[in-house]
Amino acid sequence: MMKIAILGAMPEEITPLLEILKVYEKHDYANNSYYTANYKNHELILAYSKIGKVNSTLSACVMIEKFKAEALLFTGVAGAFNPSLKIGDLLCATKLCQYDLDITAFGHPLGFVPGNEIFIKTDERLNSLALEVAKELGIKLHTGIIATGDEFICDEAKKEKIRSIFKADACEMEGASVALVCEALKVPCFILRAMSDEAGEKAEFDFDEFVVNSAKISANFVLKMCEKL
Ligand code: SAH
Repeated sequence: MMKIAILGAMPEEITPLLEILKVYEKHDYANNSYYTANYKNHELILAYSKIGKVNSTLSACVMIEKFKAEALLFTGVAGAFNPSLKIGDLLCATKLCQYDLDITAFGHPLGFVPGNEIFIKTDERLNSLALEVAKELGIKLHTGIIATGDEFICDEAKKEKIRSIFKADACEMEGASVALVCEALKVPCFILRAMSDEAGEKAEFDFDEFVVNSAKISANFVLKMCEKL
């Protein structure tokens, strides 16, 4: 029996889970809604943070400090950078960075501020559990690096720049901030993303077409993981 947080950024990423759980309680707090439910011996806390690093930081903190989550699983969609990642494919982040954290004017590398590392690692135990779950389900789970920033990337040049600096496999807008909160508060963190687009020209059209389906692929996977925890 564990208290597990399942966090997404958008309604599309969390409502599929609430539909499966059926019975849950809604708690309004800090300009957002948090949902608690029981699932397979665990107590779940679910929320969609709203988009971006600040919103996701707030929600991750609330889930841990107020709702006492003992592990956090992030579920959502991302833009693929690595050409081996196709729309619908699942990526588990081994580490994440903030590509838009920029004090390079002072000679620091992009993504670095004093006192922090450029990359924030996720929990190795949860990541290996995910690989076991994927094997059992007979689906391919990619592992790699995620670059997070407060921008929807739909531009080849921006994509290539971020990809080359951080060797990132995908980009999104919440993962690194959530991982940073979990690391600071010593809560195991898992960041899963299903690809909704390829972050190049016209990615916003792919996103609109694939977000619902990709979000469900990711959501179903984290729920399977809860069964193994
Ligand atoms: N269509 C939404 C906005 C989506 S922003 C609206 O109008 O409200 C994109 C969301 O999906 C973010 O939560 C981000 O984490 C993820 N994402 C998917 N593809 C992305 C990309 N190419 N660049 C950045 N974030 C992306």
